[in-house]
Amino acid sequence: MQDIVRVDLAERGYDIVIGPGVIAQAGARISALAGRRPVVVVTDDTVAPLHLPALEASLEGAGVRRNGPAIVLPAGEKTKSFAHLEALLDDLLGRGIERSTLLVALGGGVIGDLAGFAAAVALRGLDFVQVPTTLLAQVDSSVGGKTGINTRQGKNLVGSFHQPRLVLADTGVLATLSRRHMLAGYAEVVKYGLIDDAGFFAWLEEHGAAVCAGEPEALVRAVTVSCAAKAAIVGQDERESGRRALLNLGHTFGHALEAAVGYDDRLLHGEGVALGMGLAFDLSARLGLCGAEDPGRVRRHLDAIGLPTRLGQVAGVTWDTQELLGHMAKDKKVQDGRITFVLARGIGQAFTARDIDGREVAAVLDRAR
Ligand code: NAD
Repeated sequence: MQDIVRVDLAERGYDIVIGPGVIAQAGARISALAGRRPVVVVTDDTVAPLHLPALEASLEGAGVRRNGPAIVLPAGEKTKSFAHLEALLDDLLGRGIERSTLLVALGGGVIGDLAGFAAAVALRGLDFVQVPTTLLAQVDSSVGGKTGINTRQGKNLVGSFHQPRLVLADTGVLATLSRRHMLAGYAEVVKYGLIDDAGFFAWLEEHGAAVCAGEPEALVRAVTVSCAAKAAIVGQDERESGRRALLNLGHTFGHALEAAVGYDDRLLHGEGVALGMGLAFDLSARLGLCGAEDPGRVRRHLDAIGLPTRLGQVAGVTWDTQELLGHMAKDKKVQDGRITFVLARGIGQAFTARDIDGREVAAVLDRAR
């Protein structure tokens, strides 16, 4: 049971290999890609004890050359920082890496974004391979080439587009992921159905519980359909000048919620996206764009899976509509002071819109508490 999705970007195109046991083939696949070039693995201290031995055994079995032991960084969002970028670059340069060195990022979105950015800037650009170990990273962050770090002004404000050479999404490693992180990644899976694939959303309504329970076939299908959807969009609009913005469905609201909470564990990114998708459908229905029943259908599914669908479900947070609007106005996707929303004419019919009346947005937020 294995799928390969191609990200079609001419000479920067690459394969996403999806299925249980893909890490066991990492050595063979990386040596086919890199030959005798030296490899450095970057991971975090939660993933290292769980999945690094299998990756290292596979690299060794295939005779892949290594430049030193794996670099193990602290797990968590705080690692996506200037300080850790500097330490990582220091370590890499201290090992005497060359332009031919290949970085392998083993971990969730934090490790993928940070190691990917280090690969983009070290010696003006190294090749890198993503080995995503969270559902969110497998269906979203490891694909498409966005890399970067957070700064004190906000999330992902410093970074680069730098495509990986290969993505190895071993769905088997998700067995060790916490249920909460599994569900947070699942929100991004639902997003692809809501953007332009109503059939996939209907399939998720039936099989989403199996996906989240890690049932192998359902999981591979969900990751494959999601990666194919993202690959198609990235293939058309690599640098987000148009269609790629659809991938932000639920994110304009979601980022504002995350910012209001202060990016701590009370609200994971995917949970913010789940809440945000409900709000985007509320706004669409309020503006008469989609049917009045659509927001309810979206929420029913997210709710059934166990994702938050009401702001009141986020414990210990008092929401303030004006504050949330303020965060939206600071989003990095604001252009000429206008916020871009991803709205929908129905499930699977998303589109981007500007010039949305702030009072309508405020009304939706007021009603969501
Ligand atoms: P993460 O990397 O912090 O992983 C979540 C937690 O799960 C961490 O504690 C990690 O150590 C642990 N973990 C990872 N794999 C595990 C496994 N198999 N078993 C047990 N534990 C495991 O977070 P994430 O949710 O993967 O990614 C979030 C990040 O991704 C954010 O920084 C976000 O900005 C970024 N992101 C980037 C893009 C992009 O296009 N580049 C898209 C979406 C999100």
